[in-house]
Amino acid sequence: MSEVTLTIDGRPVTVAAETTLLQAAAQLQIEIPILCYHEACTPNAICRMCVVEVEKQRLLQPACVAQVREGMVVQTRSERVERSRRTLLELLDSAVDLSDAPAIQAQMVDYAARPARFPEAERRSPPVLDDNPMYIRDYAKCVLCWRCVQVCAEDAQYTFALSFEGRGFETQIGTFFEQPMPATSCVFCGQCVGVCPSGALKPRREWLLEQGKRPDDILEQTRAERRRSRRSSPA
Ligand code: SF4
Repeated sequence: MSEVTLTIDGRPVTVAAETTLLQAAAQLQIEIPILCYHEACTPNAICRMCVVEVEKQRLLQPACVAQVREGMVVQTRSERVERSRRTLLELLDSAVDLSDAPAIQAQMVDYAARPARFPEAERRSPPVLDDNPMYIRDYAKCVLCWRCVQVCAEDAQYTFALSFEGRGFETQIGTFFEQPMPATSCVFCGQCVGVCPSGALKPRREWLLEQGKRPDDILEQTRAERRRSRRSSPA
């Protein structure tokens, strides 16, 4: 296997030729912030949080997919990189409820992002979808990272219950023909909930607890719902 040597933040590192900049930086214990990237998913460079500056390249490069090259000189926290990440976080905060996304909130502190940078911006506020016994979908908190769609599809479950719908500001994760979850191919494996970074997907019992319901009442309610749901499922 061929190897290449590059410099990241002034430090040399030698890695295998197909290594991404994210992986190469990790070898030096340099942490590059991520948002849509998840180690269980195919990297897709949707969010641009992991962009880095590469000498002699006009555009910032997404470290999750950009591969190393011999002699590359990379800056992971140059002024341009920091400004890009800060603006991205401020835009995200202007449109999305990030109250259940501690990792993103920590990034906002790290990059001195101002939550009130775009006071005129409109926040997405679709209603919570509570249509199945297992989990709720609160897309007001969705950062459109695509992870849930990926694990529901080729990255894990091969179920294809989720997709994008709408365009631009109205873009949202959804089911085909906006069917309620029990009417889709969903098998309630919970993998989408496991990879969601923003609290948009959440176990229903946890959500009911947050709504102030008592644990005993929740158990009783959800058991009864599951019994009803099993009875109404086709044999
Ligand atoms: S629901 Fe969660 S995992 Fe799915 S796109 Fe939104 S933030 Fe990402």
